[in-house]
Amino acid sequence: MGLPGGYFQLNKHIKGTGTTGWKAYRTIKHMETKTLFKCLDCGAKFGKKPPRCPECGNLEIQDDFIEFTDGVYTGDLVDGVRSGKGTFVWNDNTRYEGGWLNNVRHGWGECRMSNGGWYAGEWKNDLPNGRGELHWPNGEWYKGDLSNGMRHGYGENHFANGEWHKGEYQNNVRIGPGEYHYLNGNVFRGEYLNNNPFNGSTFFPDSNVKVGDFINGFWRSAW
Ligand SMILES: [Zn+2]
Repeated sequence: MGLPGGYFQLNKHIKGTGTTGWKAYRTIKHMETKTLFKCLDCGAKFGKKPPRCPECGNLEIQDDFIEFTDGVYTGDLVDGVRSGKGTFVWNDNTRYEGGWLNNVRHGWGECRMSNGGWYAGEWKNDLPNGRGELHWPNGEWYKGDLSNGMRHGYGENHFANGEWHKGEYQNNVRIGPGEYHYLNGNVFRGEYLNNNPFNGSTFFPDSNVKVGDFINGFWRSAW
């Protein structure tokens, strides 16, 4: 019998999968142009909110929104600053809907990218911070704790190829207790160091037959 999930295969998968960093959110750096009000009927824009549209007489005037060079904000403003609940739509149709504080994303919010990636969860300082779920355009997803847009704390990461990991992360790196599920059904359970299995055992699925151990970073087959 060969070595199902042997050293090279294990390391290939562990090192080869997983996306470091996440680009599925946008840091807001755009310049404000002006605060506007818009007639929801004819689309005319005004610097001050009129009682009715002087162009077409329509009574429905959209609440405060701000045009930026790269998109449009619609929602709550406090002293002209985005705070409360609001939506930002970038020119490429990337869309954020949720909480704001002092012009940056804060609290619970959802950001859907034009490329299909999305994040839903907690924000702070314009970045995913707290609990949330990240989805990449290729189908990979992560659900768990985040810090400054990175996996940090406990989480579950499902890769596009079907393999998945759950366990502890620090700044996007697997470190500490975790378990990894390989495509061939093997499961590693143990401790990670720098993204790699360090101490622990790999088992066949649905049986407790051991394939081998990692001891201080070195693989030792059971046979
Ligand atoms: Zn009008």
